[in-house]
Amino acid sequence: MVLAELGGKISAALQKMNNVTVIDQKALQECINEINRALLQSDVSFKLVQSLATNIKKTVDPSDLAAGHNKRKIMQQAVFNELCGLLDPGKPSYTLKKGKQCVVMFVGLQGSGKTTTCTKYAHYHRKKGFKPSLVCADTFRAGAFDQLKQNATKANIPFYGSYTETDPVVIAQLGVEKFKKEGSDLIIVDTSGRHKQEASLFEEMRQVSEVTKPDLIIFVMDSSIGQAAFDQAQAFKQSVPVGAVIITKMDGHAKGGGALSAVAATKSPVIYLGTGEHMDEFEPFDVKPFVSRLLG
Ligand code: GDP
Repeated sequence: MVLAELGGKISAALQKMNNVTVIDQKALQECINEINRALLQSDVSFKLVQSLATNIKKTVDPSDLAAGHNKRKIMQQAVFNELCGLLDPGKPSYTLKKGKQCVVMFVGLQGSGKTTTCTKYAHYHRKKGFKPSLVCADTFRAGAFDQLKQNATKANIPFYGSYTETDPVVIAQLGVEKFKKEGSDLIIVDTSGRHKQEASLFEEMRQVSEVTKPDLIIFVMDSSIGQAAFDQAQAFKQSVPVGAVIITKMDGHAKGGGALSAVAATKSPVIYLGTGEHMDEFEPFDVKPFVSRLLG
């Protein structure tokens, strides 16, 4: 994972602080510049990098550093706090409760890993004792229903979809009604993606959301999309009330910084990471341990 490289570069910048004999504004600025470069190379959006740098300068007092304290520690703490602040929108995501029926709608671009992630999410919660079900309201991508059906069957999770109905809104409504009657407490609705953000996708999302009244809308994002992540996440958030983010393909060559930027755009917490194509390659995301790991 290329994020590890980012961590390595930030650690190297911090380490240099320890080797500088005179810590003044200039040395501090150099260290911040180096951290900025590492973040930009990892596709963190320019705006965020700028605000991160400004905040570090505000919180770190060069005279503290000059006083002979552990400079690397002081800087590391400041960077840690800023990165955590970036990733933590300050409000938790919707909490699912066993036995309380809820609808979770998945949105995202085509190829982001939405369908795969729906099954992973269902499988993960079934292991925790929920009774999940899957509704395939993706009528745009040929084969989406077959894919969901295959995954759901493998995981032994009830599913609903149609080969003949072309209106995703109708499928979503029928599917949610069916599973409500059957007593599923976690009804997951997979919606259509598109190759790019477009008005028709957003209109469809709004309509599906209107009929299914989701308790939570999860935005699924491919970690490799880089700088485009910020605008993409913002566009989704402006169309429907995104409540949480799942970042996929963290096992690949993604730089990951784009994903960090997206979280800031949506002000929604990242709740899981997709780390492979298989059902179990899925892990909960917690800000502090993640940033700690990143900074080594
Ligand atoms: P959708 O169009 O958004 O529904 O995307 P799919 O669920 O069909 O996923 C697109 C491709 O990405 C498929 O080949 C998946 O196996 C793959 N994929 C999904 N999540 C991950 C992940 O976390 N890691 C990796 N390596 N591949 C993934």
